[in-house]
Amino acid sequence: MKVDKLYKYDVLILGAGLAGLRAATEIARKFGDRVRVGIVSKVQLMRAHSVCAEGGTAAVLRPEEGDSFELHAWDTIKGSDFLADQDVVFRFVRMMPYEILLLDHWGIPWSRRPDGKINTRPFGGHSFFRTVFAQDKTGFFEMQTLYDTLLKFSNYDRHDEVFATSFIMKDGKFAGLTAIDLVRGETVLFLAKSLIVATGGAGRLYGFTTYSHSVTGDGLAMAYRVGIPLKDMEFIQFHPTGLVPSGILVTEGARGEGGYLRNNRGERFMKNYAPSKMELAPRDIVSRAEMTEIEEGRGFKGPDGLDYVHLDLTHLGRAKILERLPLIRELAIKFAGVDPIEEPIPVRPVAHYSMGGIHANIDGQVMWDAERTVENMFVAGEAACLSLHGANRLGSNSTAECLVWGRITGNLAAEYSLSKEYPFREEDILQEAERELGAVEKLLRSDGKENPYAIRKELQRTMDKNVGVFRTREGLEKALEKIKELKKRFENISIKDKNLVWNTDLVMTMETGFLLDLAEVLTMGALLREESRGGHFRRDFPKRDDERWLKHTLAFRKEDGSPAFEYIPVRITYWKPVERKY
Ligand SMILES: Cc1cc2nc3c(=O)[nH]c(=O)nc-3n(C[C@H](O)[C@H](O)[C@H](O)COP(=O)(O)OP(=O)(O)OC[C@H]3O[C@@H](n4cnc5c(N)ncnc54)[C@H](O)[C@@H]3O)c2cc1C
Repeated sequence: MKVDKLYKYDVLILGAGLAGLRAATEIARKFGDRVRVGIVSKVQLMRAHSVCAEGGTAAVLRPEEGDSFELHAWDTIKGSDFLADQDVVFRFVRMMPYEILLLDHWGIPWSRRPDGKINTRPFGGHSFFRTVFAQDKTGFFEMQTLYDTLLKFSNYDRHDEVFATSFIMKDGKFAGLTAIDLVRGETVLFLAKSLIVATGGAGRLYGFTTYSHSVTGDGLAMAYRVGIPLKDMEFIQFHPTGLVPSGILVTEGARGEGGYLRNNRGERFMKNYAPSKMELAPRDIVSRAEMTEIEEGRGFKGPDGLDYVHLDLTHLGRAKILERLPLIRELAIKFAGVDPIEEPIPVRPVAHYSMGGIHANIDGQVMWDAERTVENMFVAGEAACLSLHGANRLGSNSTAECLVWGRITGNLAAEYSLSKEYPFREEDILQEAERELGAVEKLLRSDGKENPYAIRKELQRTMDKNVGVFRTREGLEKALEKIKELKKRFENISIKDKNLVWNTDLVMTMETGFLLDLAEVLTMGALLREESRGGHFRRDFPKRDDERWLKHTLAFRKEDGSPAFEYIPVRITYWKPVERKY
């Protein structure tokens, strides 16, 4: 398939969520017109999933009131069930306060205390109230502030509604990106001296999820397909408060502001699972507690098997709910028909975050294996696995990660590009791109019997049922068998729309292909990991097993398309793992 358009940049940023925009603003303010940047997003810039982040962003802002870098690091490492790399965590906590103040200078409307200082709220697993917020719409305001800031500069082109399909690698380096411009119906090749991948997570592996429909792990799957390993993919976070029946998130900020979880007897059941932290225990623990209540008959009957518990905010009072949680009230009224000022909200665990991602080092530099870097390729945000969150992320550490590694990778990619010429012959990469786009053409021509929408639905149902909060060998094996069957059936699909202009059939099908690859990696990784740690809980191996499993999983794609696994050590630089109690 011919390439219709070719663009050339110093730095290419794939993804315009918080991580991508933070990288772009960093390059713009530090390097200005010396570094030409291309920003590619499959949706319009302000429609990146990041605008949905609700509760806040963690940072140590109040040392005078008792918080410290060491405490934030400890909370993060304990929360990770000791799978986080500790040097990464320390770098993160030290860099975060600057990000909060920088956004403040750029005009973000942080919620404030009566004395005018930036306000902070408690969040799960944090032993200090260090989550900075802008009402319950933090991600929206962060995105808006970065976007407004970017508008002051002129060193970049935006490529909105351009869907990336594959990375082209040569001599161990990034050489180009193929894509479809959905608006113009054209094939595109981007050449760049360096690339920052900021494509977000893979939440849509699940049907009951908090994630936008666009969060389909494309960057992860594209990296995996060119031989880059994915790390720790078996660790998925299930958030305790997904609104029933939609799965829309009710922010942890609702419990941070004092909300209670109750079973069908009206009891605050968290006293039996995490007596010191109660509703503000880390998410993996609260989600398992809720599922246990539901399974033992102390939940409420919900539609389509979506049994639930209650999140009770009624005691917070009208004024606090309207001031601190206006979005949550609006969502509960619109999507569950309850007004939280008057009644409790129906909630249950929901797929919420991918702790795993593209294997990267502490600088966000992509790695080929345990030792070799891809010298001109970086990754930031949820697409990355730098091992900051280990086996379980603490709430409000993710938007924070996007800001910190957006900044770091923006600087490194720009410096790299200033020091180098584009090393490949354009014609060679063009030829390679046309070969790659052959796969798109094949899909467009496909005329098989299988419906790609049905395949995506079946995949999500399988993941919801068998790769959820509680896992067993039997369930995981069933899931794996189903995923293999779906992969086979995917080879015989048909796409009805044969045009390239805004072909949502084609985009959805390509995303489903990406999800199938990732589901196989995740499920096989979960089957192999015979222990319980953080978000990965095996009923048949209910204990953490540091002797065998205190290590990161790396999944490499084999020639037949299935994954092979290797393991690398966790970097423990400060605290030895201890039992995790709350
Ligand atoms: C409902 C919800 C609320 C949350 N609230 C919080 C919170 O309060 N605090 C917190 O710390 N974390 C929160 N999180 C997590 C946090 O929002 C995400 O981890 C973070 O926003 C991810 O940002 P990102 O920049 O990595 O990716 P995203 O914001 O997902 O952006 C991905 C970008 O990549 C582009 N892209 C992807 N694939 C392609 C492709 N094939 N071609 C072209 N472009 C592509 C997209 O268009 C988009 O621009 C929340 C998550 C959810 C689901």
